Amino acid sequence: MQTRFSKEQLATPRIQLADDILRKCVHCGFCTATCPTYVIKGDELDSPRGRIYQIKDMFEQGKGASAQITKHLDRCLSCLSCMTTCPSGVHYMHLVDEARAHVQETHTRPFIDRSLRFVLAKILPYPQRFRMALAGAKMARPLAGVFGLVPAFKPMAAMLKLAPKKLYPKSTELAKGVHAPKQSKKGRVSILTGCANAVLEPSINEATLRVLNRAGIEVVLPPKMGCCGSLEHHLGMEDGALEKVRANVDAWTKEIEGDGLDAIIINASGCGTTVKDYGHMLRLDAAYAEKAAKVSAITKDITEYLAELELSYSAPQNLAVTYHSACSMQHGQKIKTLPKQLLSNAGFRVSDVPQGHLCCGSAGVYNIMQSEIANDLKQRKLANIKTTNPQVIAAGNIGCITQLADEAGVPVVHTIELLDWAQGGPKPHGI
Ligand code: SF4
Ligand code: SF4
Repeated sequence: MQTRFSKEQLATPRIQLADDILRKCVHCGFCTATCPTYVIKGDELDSPRGRIYQIKDMFEQGKGASAQITKHLDRCLSCLSCMTTCPSGVHYMHLVDEARAHVQETHTRPFIDRSLRFVLAKILPYPQRFRMALAGAKMARPLAGVFGLVPAFKPMAAMLKLAPKKLYPKSTELAKGVHAPKQSKKGRVSILTGCANAVLEPSINEATLRVLNRAGIEVVLPPKMGCCGSLEHHLGMEDGALEKVRANVDAWTKEIEGDGLDAIIINASGCGTTVKDYGHMLRLDAAYAEKAAKVSAITKDITEYLAELELSYSAPQNLAVTYHSACSMQHGQKIKTLPKQLLSNAGFRVSDVPQGHLCCGSAGVYNIMQSEIANDLKQRKLANIKTTNPQVIAAGNIGCITQLADEAGVPVVHTIELLDWAQGGPKPHGI
């Protein structure tokens, strides 16, 4: 694709990066066929190619983002299905991240939209605030129907509907510090305990810790580790996101330079995609670029790390599991077979979801902000899953688990909870 940027524009890192990415696109449109929003809306402006053209125009004109382009960028799930399909290696993720930051810097959204984004960014990444907000949402749930009647308040209705019926107390098994294995130590890692996982399903982090300890792996949970920053990053709020990225880089670097870390383990694939990109996100920060690149280089999804270990299963369960591959797992991190292989090794009978490349509609806070498209995608996903007759659904991302759980008709659990169970750990909730 030809671009027309001035020398002055090309002197800025954002435009330099955008130019490199845009020039790789050959307009072929292969990406449109696998884009969930194009499948739903049938509008070129809601396809990857359409968004790429809009971003190009926005950057070339050097103007603020219009309401029109903001609408089409907001509808993008950042599922990265387009990156899997693209034959030319167009890095859509980095392009749309820059475009979203530009929208945030130059476009004034309507008051309610702006306020909601601000509130989400100030609550969700902080487990204590998130837990309190969920307690409030649980009580306000009956108001969801009323909010749903007013278009501007639909995100509030979606938020209330998504609030879990059961709230778990803070896990006592996940204290900050070192969790040593009972037998001789074979490795040392850190687990990103995160914000959503820690509050919505603490059993996921607990199961991760147990499986690692059983394999002889020491786990350290650094006191200053927090949210990975992806929520604000996807909202275009770069300052808040990078503050969290730097805090995590500091926390893990201290461990790397101290007793050492073989890996940073992520059990929410949405966070994994972001942490693996820390090196890129901080590439222009002289004080952090090298440290961030090191952190990204040793970051692994839990299934990638477990695939390197010898695991044994003392309590295999002969259950039909349908594995839902989160977009951030299959498109963001290109992890496709490992989780299924681990589940099979543990004795489960594993099926794939037909049309599994299409997003379930979760996508961070997308199911709050774009609830209608998110619900369409959820219903498609559930219909496809039902054709596989599962007894349980497994996924590697808390967002997908929350999105599918209330209407799945069978338990939706994390892959690691099933592996832990097959090793003699507790039976996952709902099974
Ligand atoms: S990230 Fe997903 S929703 Fe966005 S353009 Fe690519 S395929 Fe479409
Ligand atoms: S598939 Fe790749 S090269 Fe083709 S239009 Fe989409 S982004 Fe451009």
